[in-house]
Amino acid sequence: MPNIHLLSPRLANQIAAGEVVERPANIVKELVENALDAGATRIDVDAEQGGIKLLRVRDNGCGIEKDDLPLALSRHATSKINTLDDLEAVITMGFRGEALASISSVSRLTLTSRYHEATDAWQVSAEGRDMVTSVSPAAHPEGTTLEVRDLFFNTPARRKFLRTEKTEFSHLEEHLKKLALSRYDVAFCLRHNNRVIHQLRVASRGIEQERRVAAILSPQFIDNALHVDTEAAGLSLSGWVALPTFSRSQADMQYFYVNGRAVRDRLVVHAIKQAYRDVLFHGRHPAFVLYLTLDPKLVDVNVHPTKHEVRFRDGRLVHDFLFRTLHRVLADVRPSDQLPPTN
Ligand code: ADP
Ligand code: MG
Repeated sequence: MPNIHLLSPRLANQIAAGEVVERPANIVKELVENALDAGATRIDVDAEQGGIKLLRVRDNGCGIEKDDLPLALSRHATSKINTLDDLEAVITMGFRGEALASISSVSRLTLTSRYHEATDAWQVSAEGRDMVTSVSPAAHPEGTTLEVRDLFFNTPARRKFLRTEKTEFSHLEEHLKKLALSRYDVAFCLRHNNRVIHQLRVASRGIEQERRVAAILSPQFIDNALHVDTEAAGLSLSGWVALPTFSRSQADMQYFYVNGRAVRDRLVVHAIKQAYRDVLFHGRHPAFVLYLTLDPKLVDVNVHPTKHEVRFRDGRLVHDFLFRTLHRVLADVRPSDQLPPTN
């Protein structure tokens, strides 16, 4: 066996990137989450060629101080947690300090930012080289722009796994929809090859929020949805569930959030399925946009880097709450749905 040696930072980052950066959609998620963590109220996403050639995410958040710019691209560098205790009640989307380091190791990345207390903007670039960065002056309003070009230009083996421009864009769009449904207080714009695909204004009132849901899912969804808004035992559930008559052949309109974070969790899926069990035909899937809120201490989000999974401290309590709430909401449609046709 050869001698043991430390991996170069670049190689270490590329290996880490293998876990979080599979395709442009993952990058959009990370960059938009960073913008949200920075307190942005407006986020613009530009993609070219499915996001493979270019992804640009611009926000009007707090920005990054000049001296912190190179650090933002370093691995395990974060402004979001300090101690293990902070992890217990993490409220930001990110906290691992890995995303920018990983992305910059497999693309040509440029980070431009103007810190909210500063008068000038600065820029750093990392071209998949050994994390060499130099800080140079730039023009930029308050906030941050991340530009990611030529994804996997230096890792051709990974590049081969990318699908067509159309497929990559649809993954990317799906991630953005998910994020846009999590923050009605933020305006989003998504462009692909210079065409506006989604333009979503801030939606503060109920009716505006329903309009956003209609724009993202479909007007039919909201026309066929029951409103949910229940609180019990420190848990709260709000959002919309579609009538059983609006069921889908695929589980493609299912958005579930825990404390504002999109989650795909087996316990949650099971509870919802159970609630729909006697009103849905076999093989059909319910459509829903649901927001569960609970004490952050009762849920562990530090399960997987992509953070789609959560672990509830009391899974049974959550399951029962979801099942009961939705079962009750669907009660009104249950009897008539089960009646045989009248003629
Ligand atoms: P994490 O989000 O887990 O902290 P990232 O690699 O995504 O790790 O980002 C590293 C750091 O860079 C963040 O902690 C934050 O301080 C800063 N940062 C990244 N994107 C932005 C942004 N859009 N606005 C302000 N700061 C940002
Ligand atoms: Mg992040």
